[in-house]
Amino acid sequence: MSLQCIFCRIAAKEVPAGIVYEDGDVVAFRDLSPQAPTHVLVISRRHVGSLNDMVEADALLLGAMMLVAKNIAAAAGLAAGYRVVTNCGPGAGQSVSHIHLHVLGGRPMSWPPG
Ligand code: 5GP
Ligand code: ZN
Repeated sequence: MSLQCIFCRIAAKEVPAGIVYEDGDVVAFRDLSPQAPTHVLVISRRHVGSLNDMVEADALLLGAMMLVAKNIAAAAGLAAGYRVVTNCGPGAGQSVSHIHLHVLGGRPMSWPPG
C-alpha cells in the first residue's frame, strides 16, 4: 500500500468512499465526480500504477477486475449497455496513478470518446 495513494487509502478504509464491492483482491466504489448515472471505479487492492505496470502474473487479477465490472453493471441494471474504460497515462487522462476501471452507464454514449 502506498500511503500517498488516495485509492490505496480508500481500499484500506482510511478515506471514505461508496464501496459497492470488495474481496481480497478487488475493491469497487462510486466515483466522486460521476460522469454518468452509474460511475463506479474498480481497482486492485494492491497498488499498481496503471495497466502498463501489469505483467503476465497479473492476468487473473485483471480478469477478476473485468468480471467485477460486469457484475456491477448487472447489479445496476445496465442491460441497455455500459462502458468499461481504463485511462493509461496522462495523455489518456489518467489522473490517479493506481489502476482503475471506470464502469459507466445509464445514459447514451458516443464513440469515439474525446
Ligand atoms: P482517471 O482520471 O485517473 O481515469 O480517473 C480517476 C477518477 O477518480 C476520476 O473519475 C475522479 O473523479 C475519481 N476520484 C479521484 N479522487 C477520488 C476520491 O477521493 N474518491 C472517489 N470516490 N473518486 C475519486
Ligand atoms: Zn494505490
